[in-house]
Amino acid sequence: MESKKGLVLVYTGNGKGKTTAALGLALRAIGHGEKVYMIQFMKGNPDYGEVQATKYLPGFQLVQKGRDCFVKKGNPDPEDLELAKEGLELAREVIASDQYDLVILDEINVAVDYGLVREEDVLSLIDLKPERTTLVLTGRYATEKLMEKADMVSEVREIKHHYKKGIAAQPGIEY
Ligand code: ATP
Ligand code: MG
Repeated sequence: MESKKGLVLVYTGNGKGKTTAALGLALRAIGHGEKVYMIQFMKGNPDYGEVQATKYLPGFQLVQKGRDCFVKKGNPDPEDLELAKEGLELAREVIASDQYDLVILDEINVAVDYGLVREEDVLSLIDLKPERTTLVLTGRYATEKLMEKADMVSEVREIKHHYKKGIAAQPGIEY
């Protein structure tokens, strides 16, 4: 098999579609028999469709490292900090194991923006990455340094969102 060139891919911006873009990549990778590990920072709800879908998708591991509520910017709960720390540690183990073709760190950019994870720790995950592993980092507010270091950056820009019409979050669309 030809050797794979893993990439660093960033999905950021304030429109809808970053996490679902990463899930699309996961589906595509699984179709090639690849192994995928996703860690969701700042999320902790097992009813999310993607968490339930892992039952049907061998090769797709998903772990949530957050509480099922909003984190207060500037005043995170100690549990938010602890879970983010665990998420970062898990990310290090998963990446260094060289067992995964695709590693997705969902909302890690937001975790940095909220002060739950240090930017330099995210940058050092990139240095840790084995050649064949693709690393996907999602979330609003990706930092300049991260975007510089990445191979690909897509910004999802909001043009309109149904939320503004008062349509609440729905299963299969939002979660
Ligand atoms: P998705 O998970 O649907 O791909 P996302 O990862 O791009 O969305 P986030 O910024 O992580 O979006 O926001 C999480 C949730 O907030 C999503 O379920 C999404 O529908 C909702 N959302 C995203 N963008 C907006 C927006 N501009 N206004 C209101 N709600 C939004
Ligand atoms: Mg998201």
